[in-house]
Amino acid sequence: MDLYEYQGKELFRRFGIPVSDGRLAVSADEARAAAEELGGPVVVKAQVLTGGRGKAGGVKLADDPADAEAKARDIIGLDIRGHVVEKLWIERASDIAKEYYLSVTFDRGAKKPLLMFTTQGGVEIEEVASTNPEALVRLHVDPLEGFQPWIARRLVYGAGVDDPGEQKQIAAIVEKLYRCFIECDAMLCEINPLIVTPDGEVKALDSKFTVDDSSLYRHPDIAEYRDTKAADPLEAFAREKGVTYVKLDGSVGILGNGAGLAMSTVDVVVVAGGRPANFCDLGGGGNAEGVVDALEVIMRDAQIRSIFFNIFGGITRTDEVARGILEALKRIEITVPIVVRLDGTNAEEGRRLLVEAAQSNLYVEPTMLDAARKAVELAA
Ligand code: GDP
Ligand code: MN
Repeated sequence: MDLYEYQGKELFRRFGIPVSDGRLAVSADEARAAAEELGGPVVVKAQVLTGGRGKAGGVKLADDPADAEAKARDIIGLDIRGHVVEKLWIERASDIAKEYYLSVTFDRGAKKPLLMFTTQGGVEIEEVASTNPEALVRLHVDPLEGFQPWIARRLVYGAGVDDPGEQKQIAAIVEKLYRCFIECDAMLCEINPLIVTPDGEVKALDSKFTVDDSSLYRHPDIAEYRDTKAADPLEAFAREKGVTYVKLDGSVGILGNGAGLAMSTVDVVVVAGGRPANFCDLGGGGNAEGVVDALEVIMRDAQIRSIFFNIFGGITRTDEVARGILEALKRIEITVPIVVRLDGTNAEEGRRLLVEAAQSNLYVEPTMLDAARKAVELAA
């Protein structure tokens, strides 16, 4: 579960990580009132579950309450990569001398939490990692040993922070962020930028926070943060329908029976030069109900140009899945071409059923790669 910036900052504050004072606002009037309460210049920040808000015009400085109201008006309703801004975080503006970066995440390969720190903050960390990798200090924490003070020192010295005041504050923040990460059962805690003010004060200016869904039962307070409406609307609709669905940003809709197969399908579409529109797992079955529900979810995405339906029958009989598909196509109208790859138990029978149905927008391909190429071609 991804948290909004203001929610992540609330948790940061609880763990003693310095953040600026702020207020939530859902209208321009509220933004004005918030700025009045806070006093002085403020920053008006779109609260959406996606990064890069600054570049998209979702973060603006305001000199006074009237200005905050005007900036709020600009930002509310803004579409930031499919996320429409409904909430704003109004925060006391900070003066920035330096922008650093600090995060804790999981390194699944190493099976350990990974701390990353660089003085090249403010920009996307992937950019630093590719253009200036030696500036990024990475350090694993052994979960059995837990956090040790030398870890923070190595990060800070390794990145070349030479001001003693900064060193001390950052080391303290590293330790607190690690505790926050562990105690909240987080998957990611990222501060970008971690700023130094002209007075030498270090604080978190942004937060990106992901909590492990499976642990939410232990954190009823964090679970309450969930805002089903604001999560991706398509994903919310999928959840309602009981369909396992993750929205991506391409044009080839993907449906597979089984999570592993659906993931491979996403990969093979990329190999074929296409962009997957989603991940969707039909699960083990393949009855008409399941197919209808999944197709309904996939078709809601306006970017869809074709659908690649990848079926492998192990225990599931593919002829039954083929009947499910044909039954589903009778019940809902699909306006884009569907490419089916069907293999495994009773595949010949399954393919025959589909071919005999001879629907003009239904293509049957013999292999996964052929099907991917066809779906990509049809989406072009
Ligand atoms: P993001 O673009 O979604 O990562 O949003 P951020 O919260 O990181 O804000 C983007 C940028 O806006 C930051 O990197 C800062 O340069 C700038 N910014 C945010 N808050 C303030 C502030 O209080 N004062 C100043 N001067 N700039 C800010
Ligand atoms: Mn940021």
